[in-house]
Amino acid sequence: MPYSWKEKVRFIEPYIPGEQPESRVIKLNTNENPYPPAPCVIKAIREFDLESLRFYPSAESDPLREAFAKYYSLDKDNIFIANGSDDVLALSFLSFFYSDLPVFFPDVTYSFYKVWCALFNIPFELKELSADFKINVTDYYGENGGVVIANPNAPTAIPLNLAEVEDIVSHNLSSVVILDEAYAGFGCESAMGLIKKYDNLLIVQTFSKSRSLAGMRIGAAFGNKELIAVLSAVKNSYNSYPVNKLSQAAAEASLNDAAYFAETTAKVIKTRTFAAEELKKLGFTVTESETNFLFAEHEKISASSIKNYLESKNIYVRFFNAPRINNHLRITIGTDEEMEALIRELKSFLP
Ligand SMILES: *Cc1c(COP(=O)(O)O)cnc(C)c1O
Repeated sequence: MPYSWKEKVRFIEPYIPGEQPESRVIKLNTNENPYPPAPCVIKAIREFDLESLRFYPSAESDPLREAFAKYYSLDKDNIFIANGSDDVLALSFLSFFYSDLPVFFPDVTYSFYKVWCALFNIPFELKELSADFKINVTDYYGENGGVVIANPNAPTAIPLNLAEVEDIVSHNLSSVVILDEAYAGFGCESAMGLIKKYDNLLIVQTFSKSRSLAGMRIGAAFGNKELIAVLSAVKNSYNSYPVNKLSQAAAEASLNDAAYFAETTAKVIKTRTFAAEELKKLGFTVTESETNFLFAEHEKISASSIKNYLESKNIYVRFFNAPRINNHLRITIGTDEEMEALIRELKSFLP
């Protein structure tokens, strides 16, 4: 009888992250921050009591939750911490999307959402963005098993305003609405003020982008305490200690450096304005961005050939070979010098 272990295991199409090249390159492909973590974060890591690593960390990241509670004027019970916002989001899908009804999200959005739906057997229905990649809020009014929206959306960079976010949340009082604010800090208004008003809203944020801590893997969710309790129970059925002690300490320190946060996010925004203008002069259309990246399409030259040319010059940008967006590039905002190098190379390549 033919028999193989392959008949019993799970084969799945995974999310594919942007490359992490080893050599020194200009890396504009995974939306990392071009500036280092805040000085007080580096100090906290240097001065960390390494001998304490023999102990397990706080299971619920309590000191960090307390720091967040002060930071956002919330209660500790409104806050959940896990190993990067991808971990927070995966656990949230597992916790809140648990009916037979389809979960709604845009056809063009963070591509991990579909992967988690496949992994957890969650039915979903894609809502088509308009031709100019805008979310139409009324698409999210129908009966559903939940809603997930990245705001600003990725990879389009386009924000919804607070009234539009509230419109979606208030039309879905019998579902959980997950709002992925991965790019909070780069200009888009946060909906944090709405979590006291709506018990169905879960906001997810990360330390990876605006706080320059992608390598530490820390993400957070904010919501009504009953939502957080559900999420916490699922987490504790899977992994009691998702965030290590050093990461918790680094994240806590990061919240104490408001001045550095304001300074580096303002620099990214200023560079974004400059880079968008330069790209437009070179024949790109660029969507409105309230993130640390630009979403751009050239009028004549294909995105894949631009990507390949830039890579040959050691500049990495992100290209998605996916319907509707396979002629766009997602370009992370680097330092002024990095963006100048990018523009220089594009000038020599484009007609
Ligand atoms: C970057 C990103 C994440 C994941 O960030 P983590 O590094 O896992 O915290 C989640 N959602 C969106 C939309 C992102 O762009």
